[in-house]
Amino acid sequence: MTTPTRPVWSGLWEQPGEWVRDAVCAEVGMPDVWFPTADKDTFSIQIAKRICRRCPVRDQCRDYALRHEAGYQRYGVYGGMSPAERRKYADRLESS
Ligand code: SF4
Repeated sequence: MTTPTRPVWSGLWEQPGEWVRDAVCAEVGMPDVWFPTADKDTFSIQIAKRICRRCPVRDQCRDYALRHEAGYQRYGVYGGMSPAERRKYADRLESS
């Protein structure tokens, strides 16, 4: 088993891969819950994270967001994680 490493931005904007076809959020709608207007809109964030839990492409989504943290992916819920949770996850990967 390999240890995951922090996904790194290549410097080029990358289109999401074929995995987006299986994104549960694309079927659900309600974009506001993934991008609440306030960072502390915990109710919306909890709804988004709950939906993400049953998404088959959660890992790909999280890694895509981590590779693009310099862009708008630094906001909102991706891969079932809030921005703060993604930062902590990335820090853990870097220190492991
Ligand atoms: S993990 Fe969440 S945000 Fe990412 S594609 Fe799946 S449902 Fe959408």
